[in-house]
Amino acid sequence: MTKGTTWDKDNKEKVEGMKKEDIHKFCYWCGDNATTTEHVPPKNLFPKEFRDNPITVGSCTTHNNEFSKLDERMRVHMQTMGDPIIAKSELENKTTRGLLRNESRGLLTEIVSNSGDYFGESSQRERLDYVEKYFEKIIRGLYYYHFIKRLNGSTSFFSNKIELVEISANAHFYYYMLDDKYAGKWKEGDSKNKDVFDYKFHFDETAEQFITIMKFYKVHIVHGVTLPQGKHIDDYAIEFEDFEKWRKGKKSTSELVQKT
Ligand SMILES: [Zn+2]
Repeated sequence: MTKGTTWDKDNKEKVEGMKKEDIHKFCYWCGDNATTTEHVPPKNLFPKEFRDNPITVGSCTTHNNEFSKLDERMRVHMQTMGDPIIAKSELENKTTRGLLRNESRGLLTEIVSNSGDYFGESSQRERLDYVEKYFEKIIRGLYYYHFIKRLNGSTSFFSNKIELVEISANAHFYYYMLDDKYAGKWKEGDSKNKDVFDYKFHFDETAEQFITIMKFYKVHIVHGVTLPQGKHIDDYAIEFEDFEKWRKGKKSTSELVQKT
């Protein structure tokens, strides 16, 4: 992204000397001057009584506008996958009403005409783009919030509820093993409303990766990772034999624990 490169060069001192409070001065996505704040994850996931002490970062007007429709589309999707008590009551009470607002009428039509298919007539590819962009936003936001600099690289994620993701079986093995791989190293996230959103994270210095395991509405678990420039998620793929070895080792350990 040209904008990002310019920013890195022109504001090099600002980047290196950025303090925690500066994360609200620059856009977490492109680095332009921030004009507004972005909630991480989006504010619309949080019922009113769960909105204390949100995690926020700076955002420029362009990115705030660009992502607000995405957030609205994804809210419905996220809430149908969450804990029934919190997410679904919020979905029934507020989302439907929210959708009746003028700006959302198009989306409501899509929902009604496709009975239960919240992405309307979008193609599979478009849906995947929405979902990828949505989690990329959250991963980038958390990275920016914790490391006080913009992510220079890409992101990848794995969800226990979304089957749209086009990743290889071997990359799945990588995700399955992540929690275990960094056992003892995880730091608890700053979320104050853990019933809606909770996360833990770790920065792997050697791999230059920010790794996070997020939980939305208690049951929707999303593994998010950053990838250094030039890396693809398949570069982290685990061979089946290694995965099996890990899985068997894990199983015997848990059996042992149960016996004693
Ligand atoms: Zn921006």
